[in-house]
Formats: sequence, C-alpha cells, structure tokens
Amino acid sequence: MASIRVGLGFDSHPLVEGRALILGGVRIEHDRGLLGHSDGDTLAHALTDALLGAAALGDIGQHFPDTDPAFRDADSMELLGRAADLARGRQLRLGNADATLYADMPRLDPYRDAMIESLAACLRVEQGRLNLKFKTLEGLPLGGRAGGADVIAAHVIVALEDAV
Ligand code: MG
Repeated sequence: MASIRVGLGFDSHPLVEGRALILGGVRIEHDRGLLGHSDGDTLAHALTDALLGAAALGDIGQHFPDTDPAFRDADSMELLGRAADLARGRQLRLGNADATLYADMPRLDPYRDAMIESLAACLRVEQGRLNLKFKTLEGLPLGGRAGGADVIAAHVIVALEDAV
C-alpha cells in the first residue's frame, strides 16, 4: 500500500540594507535583502526543513550547520537540492509542496512563476507539484515587523511518496 509522509518547515529572516533579496533562488528587485549566515533564502530554508522532516532526516541545521564556515554565504538552493537527494536516497519522491510566504514588502506575485520554475528545476520535479501563496499580515509580527525589523517568513508543507 502506498504511503504518504508529510513534513512541515518554517523559516524567517530580517530584511536589511546591503543584501540581495533571494527567494526560491530568484533575485527579487528590492532595496533590502534577507540577513543570514547563508544567502538568507527563507523559502528555500523552509522547504528544505519540510523535505527533511517528511523523510525523518532531522533539520537543516543538522545537515548544514551555520557554525560551519563551509556554509557561509551558501547558495540555499544547492542545500535544497542536497536535501532532495537525501530524500531520494530513502526511496522517497516529492508528491507535492505548498508554501506560504509572509511579506508586507515587496510584492512577490510578479515572481511567482520564476520561483516555481527555479524550485522545480532544483528539486527535479514537474512544476505542477509546487504551489506558492503570498500573504501580507499587516501588523501581525510574522512577516510584518518583529523586534523593530521587517522580516520575510515562510511556511512550507511537503508530502513525500514512496518512489517505487
Ligand atoms: Mg533560514
């Protein structure tokens, strides 16, 4: 009998000046970018955690510790690809992934297709297995202002299926 395994991921990073804004591997036009040890790609990080969670492989910090200089300014899409390889190594394939990005600024919907294309290529799946939703929360401290800084946050849920 086929089994489905689900995993949940969450991540957030503050927006700061002097950084590029990269989400799902796509460069977004904005005057600020996400601060992080890596490139701060909060969507890639949440998706990586969801994949690892569904495969019972722990979390992103275990596999790619931010204390390791090897991951400084890392391309988060490369880490995502490695997490997908780990899941494939467990004979699991992506059923679907659904993500919600929380950002009051900038508007992300013009980048939806590019992000889906980028993530599908990284994961080596059809684009129809991926969905992205964009929310503004207007005052709630999630994707709005938290601790005085604007942040972008992401929730992702993933379903993995047996590959055979
Ligand atoms: Mg992160």
